[in-house]
Amino acid sequence: SCTWQKFLCGGRCIFGPDANSIYLSVSLIMTPLALFVAFVSFRLAELMGKPLGPFIPRTAMAVGAFDLIVLVLTSGRDPGIVPRNTKPPDPEDLQLDGMASPMAGAPSSGTLPPTRDVYVNGMVVKVKYCHTCMLYRPPRCSHCSVCNNCVERFDHHCPWVGQCIACREITGSSSCSSRRRRSFASTCSCSAG
Ligand SMILES: [Zn+2]
Ligand SMILES: [Zn+2]
Repeated sequence: SCTWQKFLCGGRCIFGPDANSIYLSVSLIMTPLALFVAFVSFRLAELMGKPLGPFIPRTAMAVGAFDLIVLVLTSGRDPGIVPRNTKPPDPEDLQLDGMASPMAGAPSSGTLPPTRDVYVNGMVVKVKYCHTCMLYRPPRCSHCSVCNNCVERFDHHCPWVGQCIACREITGSSSCSSRRRRSFASTCSCSAG
């Protein structure tokens, strides 16, 4: 039921619904870079002479290639989408699963409470129910309105790469529960892309 995303390479690549904006981003980066390489860098290389001169156009082209790779990798990777449920959870099961307690004053049966208390490292965390994905969002998970999916450790939706910036971009790992977080994350993801 995830009709919004574009899947490529047998589901290994997941692009957001606005992934075409990557073409604009690429042209905005590559046009000035190509002009620099074509009309400036070789003249600079001549002026500077050997041994450092030839590195000017090479470095410019390498930076361009690296930018392109990072942009496509960011745009095409699963940011940490939480798989949707096909049917809402059973209110009876919620009380049995032990890890959470129903909110005080919530209807005892039949309807799903809008929030649940979940214990994380001995602390009580309120988690909200997502009606679109039919699940209780894990802590720090948010629903992206552009992708129409719940995304773990959601930071923001980046229009330049057409993808959510979330745990997988930040940690670079495939396991989103990993604690290897980098603090420069939210500022670097967009500027690198
Ligand atoms: Zn959701
Ligand atoms: Zn998104």
